[in-house]
Amino acid sequence: MIKSQFSKENSADSGDLDNRLVSSLTIEDDEAENSLRPHTMSEYVGQSKIKKNLDVYITAAKERKDALDHVLLYGPPGLGKTTLAHVIACELGSQIRVTSGPAIERAADLAAILTNLEKGDILFIDEIHRLNRNIEEVLYPAMEDFSLDFVSGKGPMARSIRLPLKRFTLIGATTRAGMLSSPLRDRFGMMLRLEMYSPEELMSIITRSARILGIPIDADAALELAKRSRGTPRIANRLLRRVRDFAQYEKLDRINFSITRKALTLMDVDDLGLDVTDRTVLEAIIEKFGGGPVGLDTLAAATGEEASTIEDVVEPFLIQLGFITRTPRGRTCTANAYEHLGKKYQTE
Ligand code: ADP
Repeated sequence: MIKSQFSKENSADSGDLDNRLVSSLTIEDDEAENSLRPHTMSEYVGQSKIKKNLDVYITAAKERKDALDHVLLYGPPGLGKTTLAHVIACELGSQIRVTSGPAIERAADLAAILTNLEKGDILFIDEIHRLNRNIEEVLYPAMEDFSLDFVSGKGPMARSIRLPLKRFTLIGATTRAGMLSSPLRDRFGMMLRLEMYSPEELMSIITRSARILGIPIDADAALELAKRSRGTPRIANRLLRRVRDFAQYEKLDRINFSITRKALTLMDVDDLGLDVTDRTVLEAIIEKFGGGPVGLDTLAAATGEEASTIEDVVEPFLIQLGFITRTPRGRTCTANAYEHLGKKYQTE
C-alpha cells in the first residue's frame, strides 16, 4: 500500500537526532515550514547556477509545449530540494504529485501513480534512493519511452503488455546520489547538486521568513542567525521560529541582536552553528579514537547515533567547515576541529 501517496513523507528515520534543533531532517514543527516555502523562482534564494540552467530548460520546454526533461536534485537535507520541485511546477504551470521512495511499497502502487499523471504533470519522488529495485524497474520504460510494461497472465498464457503514459516529468530528490543505481541515474536528463547557502543568502531567507511570521528582525540579528544555520535554510527557519518565541516571551516587538544571542546560547548552538550532537561526534573521534581515522559504523556505535544520520546530516557541514576529512580508512578530525573544541592537536 502507498502510505502517503501524495504527501511529503517525514524523512526522519534516525532516532534522537530528529529532535535536534539544528538537525536538517524534517521534524514536527516543520509543518509550519510550508508557510515559509517560496513559490516562484524569483523568491527562491541562492543556487544561482541551478536556477540559470533551469530557466533555460523550462523556457525551452514551455516553447515546445513539451514536458521538461527528468530532473534529479541531490544534496543534504533541508537545502531546498522539495521547495525547488514545487517552484519548477509553478514556473511550468504544471500540477505536481508528491510521494517518496519508502512510501511506494509495491510496483503496482507506482504504476497506479504513473497512469494517473496528465500530460506535463510533475511527479516528485523524495528519497528516491530508497525505492526498491523491482519497483525502480517500472520507472525505466516510464522515464524513457513514457510507457508501462507489464506481464498479464501466467505460464504459457503470459503476455507482455505495453501501456502508453502521458508525457510527464519525474523530479527525484536524494541525499545520496551515489546510492542510485546507474540505470536510474542515467535516465535523468539533468542532475543538479544543491550547494550550502552563504550567510548573506540565509540572511535574506531569514528576513523574508520573519516578515511572513509577522515579526521584524534587525539586520545584525538576521546575520547572526544566518551564521549559525549550517548553510541550511531549514535550520535557519527553525532557529528563527525559536528565537521568535524568546522575543515574544520577553514582550519584544522585534527580534534584536541581543535576544538572538541569548536564545542561541540557551539552545546550546555555538558560534559556528554546532550543537551537542556535532560536538559529541567530534569529541568521540578525538577522545575515543585518537583523532581518527575511524569507520562510520564504529563512530555510530560510539556516539549512539544512526550511521545514516551521521553521514547525511552531521558530516556534510563538518566537512564543509574543514573539521572532518573522509578517507577510505574512515573519518579523521583536523587541527581546526581540535582548536574549535579547545583541545590540543597532536600529530603522530
Ligand atoms: P529538502 O527537500 O532539500 O530537505 P526543503 O525544500 O523541504 O528541503 O526546504 C526546507 C525549508 O527551507 C523550506 O520549507 C523553505 O522554507 C526553506 N527553503 C529551502 N530552500 C530555500 C530557498 N532557496 N529560498 C528560500 N527558502 C528556502
